[in-house]
Amino acid sequence: MERNRGIAVAPGVAIGPALVLGSEDFRIPQRFVRVDAIETEVARFRAALVAAVAEITEHEALASSRLGEQYGAIFAAHRQLAQDPRLVKEVEDLIRQKCHAPEFAASRVLRQYARTLRNLGDRYFAERASDLYDLEKRILRHLLGERKEELAHLSAPVIVLAHNLTPSETANLDTRFVLGFATEVGGKSSHTAILAGALELPAVVGVGSFLSEVAGGETIIIDGNEGLVIIDPDEETLGSYRDAEQKRQSTAVKLKSLGPLQSETRDGVLIRLNGNIEFPHEVKHCTDRGAEGIGLYRTEFLYLENDQEPSEEVQFEAYSEVIRAFPDKPVIIRTLDLGAEKFPQSMREVIEATPNPALGLRSLRLTLQNQAMFKTQLRAILRAAVLGDVRLMFPLVSTLLELRQAKMILADVVEDLHEEQIPFRREIQVGMMVEVPSAALLADEFAREVDFFSIGTNDLIQYTLAVDRANPAVANLYSSADPSIFRMIRFVLAAAEKHKVSVSVCGQMSSDPIYTPLLVGMGLRELSVTPHAIPEVKQAVRSLTVPQAEEIARHAQSLEVARDVENYLRGEFKKLSADLV
Ligand code: PEP
Ligand code: MG
Repeated sequence: MERNRGIAVAPGVAIGPALVLGSEDFRIPQRFVRVDAIETEVARFRAALVAAVAEITEHEALASSRLGEQYGAIFAAHRQLAQDPRLVKEVEDLIRQKCHAPEFAASRVLRQYARTLRNLGDRYFAERASDLYDLEKRILRHLLGERKEELAHLSAPVIVLAHNLTPSETANLDTRFVLGFATEVGGKSSHTAILAGALELPAVVGVGSFLSEVAGGETIIIDGNEGLVIIDPDEETLGSYRDAEQKRQSTAVKLKSLGPLQSETRDGVLIRLNGNIEFPHEVKHCTDRGAEGIGLYRTEFLYLENDQEPSEEVQFEAYSEVIRAFPDKPVIIRTLDLGAEKFPQSMREVIEATPNPALGLRSLRLTLQNQAMFKTQLRAILRAAVLGDVRLMFPLVSTLLELRQAKMILADVVEDLHEEQIPFRREIQVGMMVEVPSAALLADEFAREVDFFSIGTNDLIQYTLAVDRANPAVANLYSSADPSIFRMIRFVLAAAEKHKVSVSVCGQMSSDPIYTPLLVGMGLRELSVTPHAIPEVKQAVRSLTVPQAEEIARHAQSLEVARDVENYLRGEFKKLSADLV
């Protein structure tokens, strides 16, 4: 039995056989081939090359049209390398003359070229060396088969263990068979972690390297409460996990019964609890738990699930499904937040070739440069909005000009729909995420131009503390309890109050009930949380009075370091609702 500790990101326990997806490092199963198989092996290499070139060409076209010629050029360079007759001949010579397996031959030739370029000591050539490594990976993937394909053909329950799962891979997990997952990389507020919550799959991320210990098929326990991955558990451990899980489920049922009760403090102040969703089917998770509306609908998952841009009609249907579940409650639809971690498979290479994608062309910036795509989404939202109280929200706004440009495009779409005499809602509240420090610092100016703010602490922490939300190596610095974050929130609350703009918190911070007293005490009266956290947060609200929350918030804000704040809040939460901890 072996225990590995990581970061717990979605509660619950899953027990089942391991399906290992491995890292990006391909293991070459055999290095040499028989003499009589040489021509077959050469043919296999040529077929893999043809498939790789076709794939690169497709990505080249897509990157050029979506992001511009300069991105397409990255793939054009890969394509030229893959078609270089000298390089191809060298690989084939190794297969023919030295009986090398095509995987071994391709790897040797490409690495030899890459090493030579790197050793020149020039930055430009060193970058070209990484193109060769990319090409090597791609050819090997075609020769060895894409192991992640296995995920598409599951027929029995498994626990998925992977070096990394991208948000789009996670969104496409077949929850009929995947019981839970663990990854070597990833952080608490990464989108993969958020999706684990959305799919209600126990999950642990940021475990560090452990996959070399697992062959596949071993029994695995994913403990999504404590952040443990246990390989080959003994009978005693298995038994105690089964008991503990039963207890947890009965507590969850008890908590669920809070659904119909008001989310109000002991002294009668209402704290509105909305749900965060990524998929339309999650509205049921929200209604079951008594959410009062949708505070954040992350629409980009429509693009990630299908790996292509959904049509206006497909979007209209998805939005309508959500609104129909809440016909007389607010539904905040956030426009596309693609880029950084969230990309469809087809954009993977462009994103991975971009230095600092979190600071690059993502989110609203990406949509502003792809107006056709943006307008299609806005049309679908405005049309669906006739069904209920829909509000529109822009993500990652960092300057006033961006906000104004987005609103101008919205006004164009309103005009178009009007001229086309298509039914739509003209009067719609427009709000923005506050998730970039510049937006928090200028909240006073932004508040004059929007109807509401939603504070996205996941990115706000990442950008305020300069710490990648998905990188376990810096996870110790990533904390909602950092005093700098409280100061950012205070800026936003003060501006919202002054301009009578409503404000909510929709980052993961609001889903952790230890922060409920602090947020209520700071003045928040609306929170948007991940559906499975609604009962616990409601319980926390119901255990408080506002003066108590204000006292907790005052003390928490007097502390200087995140660790002390976190310990203090945990202690207070324990006192307030001892039986939940
Ligand atoms: C956030 O950044 O807090 C947020 C809610 O947006 P996302 O997690 O989708 O980036
Ligand atoms: Mg965000």
